[in-house]
Amino acid sequence: MNSRQKKVAAKRRNTRIRKNPEFSQEEWDALSFVLGWCMRCGSTVELTRDHKEPIGKGGGNTLSNLTLLCRTCNELKGAKRFPEITPKYLLPSQEERLRSLPDSLRAVVTEAIYGHYSSH
Ligand SMILES: [Zn+2]
Repeated sequence: MNSRQKKVAAKRRNTRIRKNPEFSQEEWDALSFVLGWCMRCGSTVELTRDHKEPIGKGGGNTLSNLTLLCRTCNELKGAKRFPEITPKYLLPSQEERLRSLPDSLRAVVTEAIYGHYSSH
């Protein structure tokens, strides 16, 4: 494969991954409800969905790779990766929102937020 073909293949991979999210709208709604504000600056204005590890850089379209950023931070971030964008713990008000979720959603959202800490 030459470099142009590689670029085309990478683009196809990205499109395929973007089109096939491994989470439901309901799960994303629950995660964004629990997080509540921009994970970088704390803003509650114009919140957007962000892939922590960009898909173009090999990140998956999974709930655990998603976070909440305001539009300004998201645009600032572009295709880069912010270090330490995932909270290590939730604030009491976020914990409260997490506890208010139905059991099945709570398990999925807890896994998305904390999962990678327990797995290794
Ligand atoms: Zn922000």
